[in-house]
Parts: sequence; C-alpha cells; structure tokens
Amino acid sequence: MIIGCGRLGSELASQMSDDGREVTVIDENTDAFRKLSPSYGGLTVAGDASVLSVLKDAGLDNADTVIAVTDDDNTNIMAAQAASVLYHVPNIICRVYDSERACIYEDSGIRTICPTALSIHEVDQVLEHEPCQPESEQFCMSREAAI
Ligand code: AMP
Repeated sequence: MIIGCGRLGSELASQMSDDGREVTVIDENTDAFRKLSPSYGGLTVAGDASVLSVLKDAGLDNADTVIAVTDDDNTNIMAAQAASVLYHVPNIICRVYDSERACIYEDSGIRTICPTALSIHEVDQVLEHEPCQPESEQFCMSREAAI
C-alpha cells in the first residue's frame, strides 16, 4: 500500500506494479492518480489517509508493506503507526520531512526516510569531492589559460 500519489508515491506505485506486485495507492486528490504510468495495474483509492477507516477500507489490515509518502509528516506518521501498532504490517516506510521527528520515529522502530537529511548528506558529499570555486576565480583561471 502506498499512501500519497504525488511525485514519489506515483513513481513507486508504477514501478512496483510493473514489477508484478499487488499495489493499492491512496490519495485525497483524485487528479494525483494521473501521475501513475499508463501500465499501472493496481487499485486507486480516493480518500484522506489521516482517517483510520479510509486506511482500513483500502486494505491496510491485509498489507504486507506500507509506504507513507504524502507531503504531510503527521499523516505519514499516523498511518505508519496504525500499520505498525494495529495491524502489525511487517514492512513500513515513512517519509518525514522534519529531521528531528524522523530520528525520534526511527528510534521507535518505524523506518523513516528524511529528504532533508538525505539532501544534506548529498550536498556534503558533493562539496567534499568537488570543492567549488568562486565564479570569479574560475573566470580568471580560464582567462589565464587562454592567454
Ligand atoms: P508529493 O509531495 O509530490 O510527493 O505529493 C504528496 C501527495 O500526498 C499529494 O498528491 C497529496 O494530494 C497527497 N496527500 C497529502 N495529504 C494527504 C492525505 N491526508 N491523504 C491522502 N493524500 C494526501
């Protein structure tokens, strides 16, 4: 089950469906389902994923994997906790933008992905391996090489 059919959720749902998995994707905005690939063969459920009955009716109690990737941390955390505590779903991944909260929930056993922390890490990596030069310095160097 994929909760949130935005830029990330729609890609994941399309890819998992193409891989032959049974996928259900939930979004409160029906326009979001247009982002799914034409070959998507799973279910779409329109509804507010912060409402427990919507999750249950969509099949949360039978899911083996839940990926909560709406753009709202609270909704993702609530859905992940419901999957964990109420339905003992074995695989749960939850996107949390707030890095402090991501650490707290990761410690409580819910696998979190924090785009903020991942981006900081990537930027660090790039800066470490490709130290940037100020534009003026680059200009001077290319000018010197040309002379
Ligand atoms: P994106 O930021 O592009 O990954 O998109 C996030 C998606 O989450 C959007 O398609 C929103 O409509 C969806 N979304 C946000 N809050 C909820 C919610 N409470 N229930 C269902 N879908 C939601």
